[in-house]
Amino acid sequence: TDLVAPLGLDRWQQADCWPGAVVDGIAHYPSTPPGPLRSPIDGCRHGELLPASVVEVRAAVGCASVAFEAWRNVPAPRRGELVRRIGDAVRARKRALAQLITLETGKIASEAEGEVQEWIDVCDYATGLSRQLHGLTIVSERAQHRLLEQWHPLGVIGVISAFNFPVAVWAWNAMLALVCGNAVVWKPSEKTPLTALAATALVLDVLHDFDDAPAGMVQLAQGDATVGALLAADTHVALVSATGSVGMGRTVARSVAARLGRSLLELGGNNAAIVTPSADLELAARAIVFAAAGTCGQRCTSLRRLFVHEDVAEKLQEKLVTAYQHLSVGDPRLPATLVGPLIDEAALNHMQAALMRAEHEGGHVLIGGGQVRAGGNVPGGGHYVRPALLAMPEQTDIVHQETFAPLLYLMRYTRLDDAIALNNAVSQGLSSAIFTTDLREAGAFIGPAGSDCGLANVNVGTSGAEIGGAFGGEKNTGGGRESGSDAWKNYMRRATNTLNDGNALPLAQGVRFG
Ligand code: NAD
Repeated sequence: TDLVAPLGLDRWQQADCWPGAVVDGIAHYPSTPPGPLRSPIDGCRHGELLPASVVEVRAAVGCASVAFEAWRNVPAPRRGELVRRIGDAVRARKRALAQLITLETGKIASEAEGEVQEWIDVCDYATGLSRQLHGLTIVSERAQHRLLEQWHPLGVIGVISAFNFPVAVWAWNAMLALVCGNAVVWKPSEKTPLTALAATALVLDVLHDFDDAPAGMVQLAQGDATVGALLAADTHVALVSATGSVGMGRTVARSVAARLGRSLLELGGNNAAIVTPSADLELAARAIVFAAAGTCGQRCTSLRRLFVHEDVAEKLQEKLVTAYQHLSVGDPRLPATLVGPLIDEAALNHMQAALMRAEHEGGHVLIGGGQVRAGGNVPGGGHYVRPALLAMPEQTDIVHQETFAPLLYLMRYTRLDDAIALNNAVSQGLSSAIFTTDLREAGAFIGPAGSDCGLANVNVGTSGAEIGGAFGGEKNTGGGRESGSDAWKNYMRRATNTLNDGNALPLAQGVRFG
């Protein structure tokens, strides 16, 4: 309630233009049974989620389709101006948005603010991009002919997002999609609907005062997997960008492929780092602790596997154990806290089950893993754990799985080739890192026979990517790329045009006809 006014949600309460009524900052849809919303911080109930009905999802896509037909004709730099203004509005509400992210995800304040900063950064990036949506001119084999390659707006973009980045993932997609001339329908995680509501309200505020923006360009369809499945199956959605677990990606990909639509998948990771004998161990330890324990291990890029050369394993292990001892676990709203709660009880159960299984497979806990009971800086009603570091004899079955919790498996290696092979041996392919001061080792890791992940870093942890690069991963991570580089091409369609400037009509490949 304290955030309703700072986030501008009061303007949208009871507003006719909202899809479904908004009461007390919460979207109410009339169709399906409500579910309680509880903060992972203390389990307090802060609202109810009433998912969109089939009719409402169709209406959202329908409105977006109509809006697209007007928006695609607005010059791209003018579309960039809209996104620039969105960026300014986000700057003005950064703190309040970050507080809401903390309330819904349990992220510490600094990380929540960093997530909002990503939205701001991607606005700046997309604004510049709006003047750079370039194609090609290509020479023709025929006299007085030439080929053009143009990029045109694609249509309605459906965005399905995960709980752990409740605003950044949508912003990466939506800001680029908007400058590319598309309309967007967002199905946020059912665990973080308030952040989605606040983000959408902010965009609607900006759209309201922007003359060229057709109504209905930005839509929100709240709900769980059922609503996501409706979006995926809708033939009017040109591209479905889905971020979440591998299981979700398989289901969505099947549904989109069945109607020959396009999907962009950003799925689970099982990220590894290699620490070689030449590594700066102090730097490596700091990077490893942030990557493995930051966000309570709930990033797609969180570090889960660590391969350390046998010569430095003892020393690094000592450093890590000491650092883990000093990690302050507790209420993410307190400035001293570094590790907040897990998202819910299911996440706690998964972590405990993975720990038991790892021990059964020959591993032993070096530090952490236990639940932190309420008291002091730890509120009751949340699921707080001490980040765990385990020594594993080898890369066993459990190590092959992504457990979305602060669990780091430490394994020793002798030959770098073997460590790289182990890095690549899992089914996911999102992020990876090597810590070394040896140019050849670094080169081998980022070379064609090195890490098979979409992100391969040198002396930088696996998490915390910048928006300027293309973000995404290979294999079961889904193959999608978002954010920087040429990821914008996902949100456009390519047209090849052959132009004849002459009076003759030569046919390609020298074909004669008549
Ligand atoms: P999840 O798969 O449970 O849910 C993600 C989203 O998909 C939610 O909005 C959910 O409602 C929707 N969904 C689930 N099943 C669906 C279905 N059958 N059809 C349509 N929609 C469906 O994931 P989560 O628990 O919210 O997030 C954690 C997972 O997301 C982890 O595996 C993490 O690695 C991954 N993730 C990946 C990236 C990336 O960029 N690669 C980023 C963030 C999170």
